[in-house]
Amino acid sequence: MTRFSWAALARGALRGHRAWTPQWRSPDRPQPDYDAVIVGGGGHGLATAYYLAKEYRLGRIAVLEKGWIGGGNTGRNTTIIRSNYLFPESAALYDHAVQLWEGLSAELNYNVMFSPRGVLMLAHSHHDVQSGLRHVHANRLAGVDNEWLTPAEAKAFCPPLDIATPRWPVFGAALQRRGGVARHDAVAWGYARAASALGVDIIEGCEVTGITRDAAGVTGLETSKGPVRARRIGVVAAGSTSLVMAMAGLRMPLESFPLQALVSEPVKPVFPCVVMSNTVHAYISQSDKGELVIGAGTDQYPSYSQAGGVQILGHTLEAICELFPIFRRMRMLRAWGGIVDVTPDRSPIIGLTPVPGLFVNCGWGTGGFKATPGSGHVFAATIARGEPHPIAAPFSLDRFTTGQLIDEAAAAAVAH
Ligand SMILES: Cc1cc2nc3c(=O)[nH]c(=O)nc-3n(C[C@H](O)[C@H](O)[C@H](O)COP(=O)(O)OP(=O)(O)OC[C@H]3O[C@@H](n4cnc5c(N)ncnc54)[C@H](O)[C@@H]3O)c2cc1C
Repeated sequence: MTRFSWAALARGALRGHRAWTPQWRSPDRPQPDYDAVIVGGGGHGLATAYYLAKEYRLGRIAVLEKGWIGGGNTGRNTTIIRSNYLFPESAALYDHAVQLWEGLSAELNYNVMFSPRGVLMLAHSHHDVQSGLRHVHANRLAGVDNEWLTPAEAKAFCPPLDIATPRWPVFGAALQRRGGVARHDAVAWGYARAASALGVDIIEGCEVTGITRDAAGVTGLETSKGPVRARRIGVVAAGSTSLVMAMAGLRMPLESFPLQALVSEPVKPVFPCVVMSNTVHAYISQSDKGELVIGAGTDQYPSYSQAGGVQILGHTLEAICELFPIFRRMRMLRAWGGIVDVTPDRSPIIGLTPVPGLFVNCGWGTGGFKATPGSGHVFAATIARGEPHPIAAPFSLDRFTTGQLIDEAAAAAVAH
């Protein structure tokens, strides 16, 4: 693996940037046999493979990706990172991720452009204020930074914000200063590069079409590039989880919805932080390229269409233009959708399944990018040890039969 440094970059520049080599190996086909196979080459799957190889030194690991790595939700999201969730289980999981984000570029020797510029979450009603304050207090008790701002303080932190609009007046805001954004493609590429250097095979264009099992558990997979034997399989297939798990005869407590985002033409730096309004399903930041990156809500109906309803975008843009009048004349360049899988309590599922050797990591809904390093880290431990990592344990699949839900949807006090 090329070691990136100022000296390496300078040498590359002096050679006209012609000497760079591919950043990860791309075997055309999988080997017939692996110690562990990860289904899905998004950020979570690649991170899982990386930590499996690095911390548990499993010998032969493959990531099978039906398209290209990062081409799923990892490359389609609005990259918001924060850990100020209500319940202690969630705060522990997401804050584990934030702590890993803080050192990730150095860990991977790859610039993932993590930018902790602060995430502001707006309150537009007294109900929002009560919920926001409850989150702030719970987070501080759990040792997670979160603070409450008055409307004037919110305006000072984010000058383009209009706090006195008639429809969405700002009554206050929660601010997590350690929150921010990162560059999504770089996260997938950085993990792929580091995993590949540790011997992980990353096979793109390789769709898993079946999961085989015997009385003892999983035995392997059928793929578009031939059969693969493995006694440990981790499914990290985001919007396709239900389809992949059905191959092993398991029905998942998931619904899949389109979720959309869009970007504007690039402009000079004008927006200093990340702002979210859960009430209106609008969230916005400015990329390092200068584009406004805007996220919308999910469609109301489950679907596997990656298009999404156009009225959802209209609703989001109306709110953005009202909250930030300076953007009213901006032109939007692109809009796209991803498929998110959503659990009944809006918390992820990480852990074992009723089929020995088959593990699942899914249900991150509209908010899994922020968890990428933490999710991969605890899922790798779970696969390697055959038992849940302590941080992952509350997020087991069987909570939907025991009733021990982690109801972040109800906790948010707004429709998710
Ligand atoms: C528009 C949008 C905005 C979002 N904004 C945010 C945000 O601001 N902050 C945040 O934290 N989260 C956000 N999210 C959610 C976040 O993107 C996801 O939770 C996260 O990226 C999931 O990562 P992943 O690696 O699990 O999934 P993915 O990146 O989707 O990876 C799963 C992979 O599995 C592959 N796959 C599926 N089926 C098969 C098969 N049969 N065989 C082989 N491979 C298969 C897919 O091709 C895909 O590449 C957003 C999502 C969307 C769509």
